[in-house]
Amino acid sequence: MNNHSLSPVWSHLTKIVPSKGKGAYLFDDHGEKYLDFTCGIGVTNTGHCHPKVTEAIKRQAEKLIFGQINTVISKPVIELSNNLNKITPNNIEQFFFANSGAEAVEASIKLSKHATKRSNIIVFQGSFHGRTHLAMAMTTAKTGYRLNYQPLPSGIFTAPFPSAFHYGWDQDKTSHWCIKQLELLLKSQTAPEETAAIIIEPVLGEGGYIPAPTSFLKSLREICNKYGILLITDEVQSGFGRTGKMFCFEHYDIQPDILVMAKGLGSGLPISAIGASSELMSRWLKGTHGGTYGGGSTIPLTAANATINTIINEKLIKNSEKQGKYLMESLKSLKKRYSNLGDVRGLGLMIGTEFIKENGEPNPTLTKKIQHKCLEKKLLLLSCGTYLNTIRWIPPLIVTKNQIDEAVNVFSESLEECE
Ligand code: PLP
Repeated sequence: MNNHSLSPVWSHLTKIVPSKGKGAYLFDDHGEKYLDFTCGIGVTNTGHCHPKVTEAIKRQAEKLIFGQINTVISKPVIELSNNLNKITPNNIEQFFFANSGAEAVEASIKLSKHATKRSNIIVFQGSFHGRTHLAMAMTTAKTGYRLNYQPLPSGIFTAPFPSAFHYGWDQDKTSHWCIKQLELLLKSQTAPEETAAIIIEPVLGEGGYIPAPTSFLKSLREICNKYGILLITDEVQSGFGRTGKMFCFEHYDIQPDILVMAKGLGSGLPISAIGASSELMSRWLKGTHGGTYGGGSTIPLTAANATINTIINEKLIKNSEKQGKYLMESLKSLKKRYSNLGDVRGLGLMIGTEFIKENGEPNPTLTKKIQHKCLEKKLLLLSCGTYLNTIRWIPPLIVTKNQIDEAVNVFSESLEECE
């Protein structure tokens, strides 16, 4: 169906018009079935239309659709704050709700500025934090996100992300060098006493699906402690079981001061959140932030409660860890056969396969060809990375071994056909 009145600003991977989604599959009116390993860019972690989530939405829709939070406090918003409190560490105990990832990122920065009375923010090279003007200024994954929108808000400083594969060093050396560069930034461009927060995606998402080394995140935590800078983890994409833990920072034995959440929280309904300690939240002056819908729209709140319960009751984090290991092994075995497959990396069900040319340069042309071959074979995969040469693997957390086999076989055939 190409007759539509949509703005051309959206890019579209496919022209599929799905009429139904179930688990890991999308279906169209022509009877085609697609294996969806894009998961709505990491949103439908419980699979398309999980019955428990769908049922909860239906029930809530009959009771109360909107309970504006500055006016009333709805039952679903109380329940969600308590649910999030249970699944986050002790220092993350109060929650603010919004509608999108970018809004939650903005909220985390506003809280940081209020709490520290400092103005500057440090982000990492390759970051993606969203499309609003501030979030765009914090996004360094691709120039395309900024094209003709600059100048953007100031006070944002960029430090290198420890991407060992791209530097051609081992993880320790990369981590050490990147920390030195961060320290240099604090000496040369933004003094600690002017720096409110450092924000990091523990697994760089849009920037190429690159997990940060443990030593890096530990050093980051130490630097933040030393200078009273707040550490924000942007878990918009890596949260809610995606990496084989409820939140990705749990892999690193560190705790953030502010946790940013969205995507997987609502199984497809627009909802985002930030969490912090009550002490930190108490420094956010009443009335200085808010919004009409955040915390008031009960259907997304209910979907989020049902999503968290489903992740826990159906042990989806265990499945993410287990199937993630299997997917990683399967993809790594392909790397041995295809020299263009330069790197396979990730955590849980957040895995990147990066394509290079013979001289080691990025290979976006081959990446696109393979992605399209897979699409022809009814497997949906997204790409990412500054050079658009990484295919990202984000199946739903309910994925089975058979579905992974199905996807990896299609990928392998496509690699062969594109050689
Ligand atoms: N932060 C991260 C890590 C993301 O991956 C994204 C979206 O892809 C965002 C923030 C922005 O979220 P949204 O598109 O919901 O505004």
